[in-house]
Amino acid sequence: MKNKECNLVKDLLPNYIDKVTSNETNVFIEEHLKNCDECRESFKNMSEEIKVDYKNNENKKINIFKKVNNKIKLLKTIIFVIIFLFIVIFIRKVAILYKVENMAIKADYKNYSKIRVETTENCTIKKEYYKHNDNFVAITTRIDEEGVEEMIEYQLNGIKDRRSFKNKVENKDVNKDKNSIREDVRYQFLNKSFWGNIGVASIDSIKSVELGHKDCYLLVGDDYLNFIDKETGLTIKDVNFHNNFVIDYKYTFGDVTDEKIENLINDFQS
Ligand SMILES: [Zn+2]
Repeated sequence: MKNKECNLVKDLLPNYIDKVTSNETNVFIEEHLKNCDECRESFKNMSEEIKVDYKNNENKKINIFKKVNNKIKLLKTIIFVIIFLFIVIFIRKVAILYKVENMAIKADYKNYSKIRVETTENCTIKKEYYKHNDNFVAITTRIDEEGVEEMIEYQLNGIKDRRSFKNKVENKDVNKDKNSIREDVRYQFLNKSFWGNIGVASIDSIKSVELGHKDCYLLVGDDYLNFIDKETGLTIKDVNFHNNFVIDYKYTFGDVTDEKIENLINDFQS
């Protein structure tokens, strides 16, 4: 009889510990436990086991929570680092452009020469510009596929003379170049306005490269390359993939004399 009751109690114990047994059953089990050492021992062991199980479960839950929390922290850190890098890269671009533009502005434009060679699919146009104090001479030459040069425009102090040239170049063939100082100093990205400065974002990257033994900044855009001489801050090469042209610039400062200008005028008049 006792053995039968013991088996019954042992069957019920798990539910009893989980507190899902009825009041009547509880009274029955508790009465039995009072009088049976064996079942009391079983009850003790089972309770402990379940406690340990419960603890393990709780620990697992805490661990999962910690893992999720750590992942969120990592994600936040990654996002922060990315935003931070974007800001640093943007500031670097602006700083470089300010530096080169300030350098370019400070050059001595009272006495300088500039040679601009524009190469398109159809032809090559060379524009020479010599300035000494208030006098300047601008000569535009077209170079054909065989390398034959033909002067197409001549300017003395801004007065154009195109009449004497047989082949006139249509304006659309030549990218606008006003031979002004503004043109030399490329206000391409900075200086215009707040929104103009935002244009810095259109530069994909600025790299340090060497071009013709000159250390340059290379501005890389979607469809253009812009090489800026680190020493002078002046653009020395423009490549445009959208309109298919390459422009090379050469500058000298301080070596244009009145004599040089006079010789250019005499060459033209003879
Ligand atoms: Zn028992």
